[in-house]
Amino acid sequence: MKQKRLVIAIDGYSSCGKSTMAKALAKELNYTFIDSGAMYRGVALFALENGMILNGNPDKESIIDSLDEITLTFETIEGKQHLMLNSRDVENEIRTPAVAEVVSEIASISEVRQKLVREQRKMGDLGGIVMDGRDIGSVVFPNADLKFFVTAKPEIRAQRRFLELENKGIQTNLKEVLHNLETRDRLDSSRSDSPLIRTKDAILIDTSFLTPHQQLNKVLEFVHQNATIDN
Ligand code: C5P
Repeated sequence: MKQKRLVIAIDGYSSCGKSTMAKALAKELNYTFIDSGAMYRGVALFALENGMILNGNPDKESIIDSLDEITLTFETIEGKQHLMLNSRDVENEIRTPAVAEVVSEIASISEVRQKLVREQRKMGDLGGIVMDGRDIGSVVFPNADLKFFVTAKPEIRAQRRFLELENKGIQTNLKEVLHNLETRDRLDSSRSDSPLIRTKDAILIDTSFLTPHQQLNKVLEFVHQNATIDN
């Protein structure tokens, strides 16, 4: 008898602690962690680097035409997952404000979503995965064993993201960060293809006043209730 390896979907608003929670949970369970947002950021970086953003607007046709030239993979480097864009480590570049500015517009392109969803599903084939994003419980893994929907107050999210960027030496200010989060939330929730929604079966977690340790304990309670035994 062995423990069933679950598929766990974690969705929610920008910078509410999803990735931190998903990463810690995967580590605890010895599962694979996939930050699906990094993949959308990878496409955005490719578009920026190849002149496919004109006056802040993505040139959708060129991006769609180039999709076959984009290979996204993950590599673990010193215990941390890094996104590789065509075999180049772009983990730092995809976290810059320039990428954050354009990523949600790019994520609204259906052809981009189809490509990334296909790859994400392959990664979850065997179970034993924690994936975080915006459409994981609704589109990528609608039959996930466990779904969480994470939220937190916008001001708290902005403060957290601001400190994260500051620690990485990236120049920005709190007002700009808050504006970017609110814009992305609006775009992500209102797009026609795979909008950010809380599915009926998703467990709501508000991280506003929880430490990362408390967040992990909370989700682990649900995991332990759900971890059925495979014969
Ligand atoms: O999670 P993160 O903030 O890094 O995601 C960056 C952007 O990628 C989101 O604002 C959203 O527009 C897009 N995204 C998405 N679907 C996902 C993950 C991310 O549309 N599953």
